[in-house]
Amino acid sequence: MTIAKNVSDLLDRVKEKNDRFQELSESGSPYVGIFYVIGKELYWEGDHMSEVKAMNGIKDYPREHSKYWNLSIQRILPEMKKYDYQYYPRGRVIYNDETKKFEVYCDKCIKNDSNIQREINGEMNIPYTTVYYTDGAHYKCHDCK
Ligand SMILES: [Zn+2]
Repeated sequence: MTIAKNVSDLLDRVKEKNDRFQELSESGSPYVGIFYVIGKELYWEGDHMSEVKAMNGIKDYPREHSKYWNLSIQRILPEMKKYDYQYYPRGRVIYNDETKKFEVYCDKCIKNDSNIQREINGEMNIPYTTVYYTDGAHYKCHDCK
């Protein structure tokens, strides 16, 4: 790892990273990440799969749902402040570098909803031929409990 010598170096590096992100976004590169389904709306955040290093054969997004809920969702939707991060259906998209497939661990109610799955695949550029949805045992919204 190198350390930026001055602010200009640092800004160049930020710009490079942003350009790369933009490029990948435009190329339809798939993401790994986490998501919520609130009402009929999908909310998600993630990293481009190609930018994530595999750990034990898995490419995963480092952020937890609780952080995403508290720091982002509750900011965009202040009315969500009365619910905790487990209230709404949620899930996580990872990439298995060995099977070359995306795995989506999610609530039962998402696993049984092909419409929302189509939306997730579309938004996160996940090729539907290489993805499977499965129960994430600890993902249980207020309806699935
Ligand atoms: Zn549920």
